[in-house]
Amino acid sequence: MAKRVAVIGAGAAGLCAARHLSASPDLFSVVCFDMSSTVGGTWNYTDLTGKDEHDLPVQSSMYKNLRTNLPKEVMAFPNFPFQTSKPSYIVHQDVLEYLESYAAHYNLYKYIKLNTMVTNVHSRPCEGERELWDVSYCPVSAQDKILTQEFDAVMVCNGCGCLGPSGKDVGVLIKLFRSHYALPLYPTIPGMEEFKGQVVHSHDYRIPEIFRGKRVVCLGAAASGQDIAIDVSSEAKLVYLSHNKARLETYLPENVKQKLGIQALGPHSVIFLNGEEAEIDILLLCTGYHYHFPFLSEDCQVQISDERLTPLYKHLIHIDHPTMAFIGIPKTICPFPQFDVQVRFFLSGLSGRFRLPSKPDMLSDTERDFQRRLSEGLPPRYAHVLGPRQWEYNDELAQLADIELIPRVVQKLYDYVHETRVKDIVHYKNRNYKLVNSEDFQAL
Ligand code: FAD
Repeated sequence: MAKRVAVIGAGAAGLCAARHLSASPDLFSVVCFDMSSTVGGTWNYTDLTGKDEHDLPVQSSMYKNLRTNLPKEVMAFPNFPFQTSKPSYIVHQDVLEYLESYAAHYNLYKYIKLNTMVTNVHSRPCEGERELWDVSYCPVSAQDKILTQEFDAVMVCNGCGCLGPSGKDVGVLIKLFRSHYALPLYPTIPGMEEFKGQVVHSHDYRIPEIFRGKRVVCLGAAASGQDIAIDVSSEAKLVYLSHNKARLETYLPENVKQKLGIQALGPHSVIFLNGEEAEIDILLLCTGYHYHFPFLSEDCQVQISDERLTPLYKHLIHIDHPTMAFIGIPKTICPFPQFDVQVRFFLSGLSGRFRLPSKPDMLSDTERDFQRRLSEGLPPRYAHVLGPRQWEYNDELAQLADIELIPRVVQKLYDYVHETRVKDIVHYKNRNYKLVNSEDFQAL
């Protein structure tokens, strides 16, 4: 009998899961749930922040002027290029259209229950080694009408672009919203309570105009933080790009100043780690998200500590419940191609084509990976950060399960654009690229 698989989320990761599941109807049947009214997840831009018309947290973290921070040539899923003659760095509407066309091309809409929120996932032991999953869900417009359906496997694809308590009464709001979805990560900063300016998380950032003439500290300089700082600088009087990374050796607009991380806040000012103080109006937090799976019941036995999810084999498969997978946990990666490998790896195991190692072996593999990071001086919260390791990781998954590798050209172009970006975070998106074959690309 075909295995019944629940997919939670119809963003890029969930669509990819639905595509590969539906390709093997003899092996799998699929139901994909998404609380939004459309597919595409975080790429559904909305002006709205806070809560939506169903009193649920707004899911999208997109801002109006966003252009992708990767060229579309590397963003694409394998064997499904962007069908557009547009420049390499596209706007968010283009990515949404791409995901919609992916769903249409692979005929996925019939498997997707939109406007449907998963409220609970419960593990139920069955005969022998087998395990069943009860997935409870409700329409977003009638949240008391809960139904429960039985599945053989669950793929968690709920992303992290969700819930954004806005305003500065962060502590209270986080408690209020604790039971919902992914949580923006609010660092603890001494003096935050006394700060009289506005505190905004990047999840709620939409347009630069509200920063007109203001002095802004943008805390965090990962890809999104850098891009948002540049966007804000088009309207702000002054932007302090505050971070603890090595100093960015890049061109910056005149009104953007790099600073160290934040030591404390005063009522109207910020004190950087070197003791320097500056007056500011707004603190913009580009500090990322916590992993958060409020719908997993305790019997799913998922632990999250210090931004580390355990027990996961290859950042992906639940070691104690190997019929549960989490797509998209690694950070600092090329997302869509990696989702594709993760999905194919998991399904290979689920179908029995590839045999997972024993539990003790999976646990020691995971522990080895974690200890290697610690021995390199990385803090525990970097447990799922891959960065340059992502290619080795992708290849390893592909080789273990004997599935197709991500074409080498993706890595080559990704690494190349990274070089262009670190030299000039303002202008790197003006360049265009073309894939020549599975090995080579051309800079146009
Ligand atoms: P999401 O897109 O967040 O989708 C998750 C889905 O799960 C949502 O639709 C949500 O409604 C649904 N969901 C959550 N909880 C439930 C529930 N309980 N029940 C039912 N449904 C639920 N990547 C790139 O490749 N290039 C870029 O340039 C790029 N720029 C980015 C810029 C920003 C501002 C952000 C936030 C991300 C960017 N990314 C970029 C990364 C992006 O997150 C990934 O590309 C990818 O879209 C993530 O897909 P996902 O499916 O994991 O999550």
